[in-house]
Amino acid sequence: MNKTLFSDNNVSRIMGDTDVQIVDVRCSHEDYIKRQVTFQAKLGIDDPLLILDIDELVERYRKWYKLFPRVKLCYAMKCNNDEKIVDVLKRLGSSFDCASKAEIQQVLELGVDPSRIIYANPCKQNSHLTYAKEHNVDLMTFDTEEELIKVKMLYGSARLLMRFRPKNIYEVMYDLGKKFGCDFEEAMDLFISAKNKGLNVIGVCFHVGSNCLTSNAFASAIKEARRIFDIGLQIGFDMTVLDIGGGFRGRDIERPTIEENAEVINQCLDDYFPEAGGVKIIAEPGRYLVETAVSAAANIIGRKLIYDNDKTSIEHVMYNINDGAYGTFTWVKEGPEVFVMSPVLNKASTEKHHSTAWGPTCCGTDCLATDMPLPLMEVGKWVQISYAGAYSFSCSTNFNSMPRPKLYYFCSSDTWSSLVNGSLKISSIC
Ligand code: PLP
Repeated sequence: MNKTLFSDNNVSRIMGDTDVQIVDVRCSHEDYIKRQVTFQAKLGIDDPLLILDIDELVERYRKWYKLFPRVKLCYAMKCNNDEKIVDVLKRLGSSFDCASKAEIQQVLELGVDPSRIIYANPCKQNSHLTYAKEHNVDLMTFDTEEELIKVKMLYGSARLLMRFRPKNIYEVMYDLGKKFGCDFEEAMDLFISAKNKGLNVIGVCFHVGSNCLTSNAFASAIKEARRIFDIGLQIGFDMTVLDIGGGFRGRDIERPTIEENAEVINQCLDDYFPEAGGVKIIAEPGRYLVETAVSAAANIIGRKLIYDNDKTSIEHVMYNINDGAYGTFTWVKEGPEVFVMSPVLNKASTEKHHSTAWGPTCCGTDCLATDMPLPLMEVGKWVQISYAGAYSFSCSTNFNSMPRPKLYYFCSSDTWSSLVNGSLKISSIC
């Protein structure tokens, strides 16, 4: 593990009024958390917090282009729209997938060119669509006749991608197919309708579902995209864009890894959309970029020891921590992702006990995990929760008026200098 080499006098600003803490050598998330928790403790603050490891975000962005040299990255803002994450990605040259007026506005206000935005919500509110038009954000998705009517009325010159629902169903943690995408059988009528309205369809898009559990889902969808592409060409559209959406896993320990996905997807793209054909390929990853870059720290605010029948040994420990399923970890209520928690600043014994972690609200479903092996920890100690970057605080509530954790930013000095001088940039235009 790296030494902790924080240089307190070397605190820089990237934008706005929030500091990035520059470290001489990149540290572990636990080191960043220890530093922040110790600092807070001196001020008598016991609120939960989050740390962003900017080096990790940069690494993952650059790894994308190593693995997918043909696929332009449009970061899905909905996954985590923290201002610093968005700013770092902008500095790296990323494009952006926005779902609403506010997301478009946030990206434009950072100085991102409209050509680097895709408005990838197939169902858009009228006023949001008008805002997109006023700001020249002209690339967008649709999946119904009603949406075509809306686009014709409000933004007739938009460049459209037809979103289809992949026919073959594969295992995903979060299915999007029930809500979005036209079926293959509907594509022809939608193309004809768009043509009759004088609209400009330039490609197709899909989303295999978030946290997709097999690379074959992408392979199958790319093949289907080719068939829909050909229908568009047959109707007379100049089809130039394929958008393969999101769905890539965030945690490197889970399969398919990004490398496994890349191998299958690149092969399929070469087979069905060879480079010589000139079709531009884009993707909208969210989770892949940010899930591992953020970790959380929460304070143990309560504990209950449950003994065996003889009352001689501890059978189970229940912890109450001050961030929960209504805060950073909304996904524990919906998805099967594993909640990964460990002690911080704890000279813990190696003996482990079956443990449950509860969040801080008065709701009985505010439960984070029920059978974690954890060392015995005292009330007032801190725990670290990994994988807190995706669909976490962008989905959190302040139910029971619990404070939302503050996010602290850390970056190694080398990465920081390169970000500032622009040498890490790999640009993409949607
Ligand atoms: N694009 C669209 C249209 C989405 O709806 C989503 C997630 O819901 C994403 C991209 C990002 O997906 P992921 O975080 O799984 O990569």
